[in-house]
Amino acid sequence: DAAAIFPEQRKDEFGAIAKALREMNDSLAAAERTRKQLMSDVAHELKTPLMIIQGELELAHETGAPLSPAKQASLLDEVLRLSRLVHDVLDLSRLEAGMMELHPRTENLVVLLEDVTAKTRFMAEDKHIQLSVHAEEENIPVSVEKSRILQALYNILSNAIYYTNPGGQIRLHAETVHLPDRQQPYACIRVEDNGVGIPEADLPHIFNRFYRADHSRARPSGGTGLGLAIAQQNIVAHQGWIEVESEVGRGSVFKVYLPM
Ligand code: ADP
Repeated sequence: DAAAIFPEQRKDEFGAIAKALREMNDSLAAAERTRKQLMSDVAHELKTPLMIIQGELELAHETGAPLSPAKQASLLDEVLRLSRLVHDVLDLSRLEAGMMELHPRTENLVVLLEDVTAKTRFMAEDKHIQLSVHAEEENIPVSVEKSRILQALYNILSNAIYYTNPGGQIRLHAETVHLPDRQQPYACIRVEDNGVGIPEADLPHIFNRFYRADHSRARPSGGTGLGLAIAQQNIVAHQGWIEVESEVGRGSVFKVYLPM
């Protein structure tokens, strides 16, 4: 009968076990697909900078001509990009595999915002971008692993600086919110810039690893395309989520929600 062929259809505990086993199998297969996709994406991303470095060095070796200072600088740029990439890929693959254990402690979100602003202020000042922090409360306690949330906020804020023209403005805002569809309160951080904005067609994809909207090719020394994927994984690991609103030519708003 059907139950013998499809044990999951049995109404007893064997049916339940069969179903649980199949679900386990499905999620293992999905994890394996993710891993393979990551491998092939990474290989693809490593190829270009490696080809550039190899090409320049081979040419210099064959002709015996010394590398000009400009060439040296651009090769160094590629090497730095490679090392950022390797570092980010390791972080992301650990995060995606759920291998990073969380060690949460109670932190004041306002202090974390000030930390991350202090770390990025020089980049903003270089571009004459005004960077301001507003917190609705003096203390917004969240149970988080500090370094992971700082990493997420750093990635979002450094993007805001990269994708905002000189003379622009970036505002960080933090508050406690009560969402209609949630019982407990959430801490909400907004990072608002009046930069280049993100085309609507790109918005659904920007949290995907290695996804870059077209304008970002102009980003100095090239981003890795992993910053937002890492930020999102870190936030989701804390049972939070991230949202974005953006308009080309007007700017972007990234919102991060964390349970309190
Ligand atoms: P990247 O290393 O390219 O910055 P990210 O994962 O950090 O990679 O971001 C993905 C893409 O999202 C970027 O390439 C850029 O196109 C877009 N993006 C992210 N933040 C902003 C922002 N504040 N303003 C405009 N575009 C942004």
